[in-house]
Amino acid sequence: MFDVNQIRKDFPMLNGKKMQGHPLIYLDNGATTLKPQVVIESVCDYLTNYSGNAHRGDYDLSHEVDEHYEQSREIVRQFINAKRKEEIVFTSGSTDSLNMIAYGYGLTHLKANDEILITVAEHASNTLPWFDVARLTGATVHYINLDETGRLTLENVQKAVTEKTKIIAVAEVTNVLGYQAPMKDICQFAHERGIVVVVDGAQSVPHQVTDVQDTDIDFLAFSGHKMCGPTGIGVMYGKYDLLKDMKPTRLGGGANSRYNSCGVVTLKDPPYRFEAGTPHIEGAIGLATAMQYLMKIGMNDIHEYEQELRQYCIQKMLQLDNVQVYNPHSMGAIAFNIKGVFSQDAASLFNSYGIAIRAGQHCAKILDEFLKVSTTLRASFYFYNTKEEIDAFIEVCKKGDDFLDAFFK
Ligand code: PMP
Repeated sequence: MFDVNQIRKDFPMLNGKKMQGHPLIYLDNGATTLKPQVVIESVCDYLTNYSGNAHRGDYDLSHEVDEHYEQSREIVRQFINAKRKEEIVFTSGSTDSLNMIAYGYGLTHLKANDEILITVAEHASNTLPWFDVARLTGATVHYINLDETGRLTLENVQKAVTEKTKIIAVAEVTNVLGYQAPMKDICQFAHERGIVVVVDGAQSVPHQVTDVQDTDIDFLAFSGHKMCGPTGIGVMYGKYDLLKDMKPTRLGGGANSRYNSCGVVTLKDPPYRFEAGTPHIEGAIGLATAMQYLMKIGMNDIHEYEQELRQYCIQKMLQLDNVQVYNPHSMGAIAFNIKGVFSQDAASLFNSYGIAIRAGQHCAKILDEFLKVSTTLRASFYFYNTKEEIDAFIEVCKKGDDFLDAFFK
């Protein structure tokens, strides 16, 4: 039984943290999320009680670390329903994962005139590496049109694909407009044509059930800190055969099984060939604890509750004449503006009431070509937010014209 008041007790920052003298109302979950006590304790437990390196020692402490680290990989496997735990590579986050895929797979598999498909709603992390890989290989980046609401549809994917398309790289849920892409249909269509599908799951994996076998996606990137885990840890999932056929972008200790002075290197099998150097051990442990915590609450319940919150908020926002909402019918973040008020000024007003929301371009700097506004406000929820917090948020939306009060009160 989902009980938000009970859940809130798990988060130290929801129990006493203040901003501008008001209890914190944290509505910037698209940027990062708050951490429950269990995650904090799991990280502290590693640092306090069994701090050692992984995959290196022949003593009990080192084996203890190995066990926790590999068990964390297994928990990630379960969370996204990957076939094998060797398909889970720990990275520093979505950005790192997407770069690894672009440079490790894209660079070696693309050739001149091949086409990479993205959309204008992608985050910089799923845009800039592809621009660069295209430059390096002679491939070209093309855009799948969004429909008039900002949605990525199968129909528009079908229109954009040509016989030169080799990679489709899209967010399952985008970070500003928040629409869900029909991943399973896109994968089926792409695979019939030998196209590899790379999914930026930064804004989807934390909020809904992820089943990589069901959707059949080829690569998936996501970040721990957006799902109650620590910063600096993330995941690159790849189908095992694709990982075997992919080049690590970093080499070093732990990634090779042997090498000689002539430069002949034998790499380890995935995932280890992609995890050179000492990994972020407490990050992996913290992420696994976060996933266990989320699974205990239930990803379906989390998703349902968040949609209820979003719906509640949107209905109230649509009644306000001074507010423009750009994506009333999506499922992720709410992109909006207070009419006539620059987004950063509006965010300062929200701050003065203890409400954290984001203003700006949200690292999606070509989205304005679609939205026709240079910056927006973004309110993004997680399962610990409440209708009471939304009521407080709505009251500040109504005060939008008083934004100068934030500076002169
Ligand atoms: N993709 C999307 C859709 C995102 O929202 C973000 C984070 N804002 C990223 C990628 C990058 O994530 P990170 O900063 O954790 O690497």
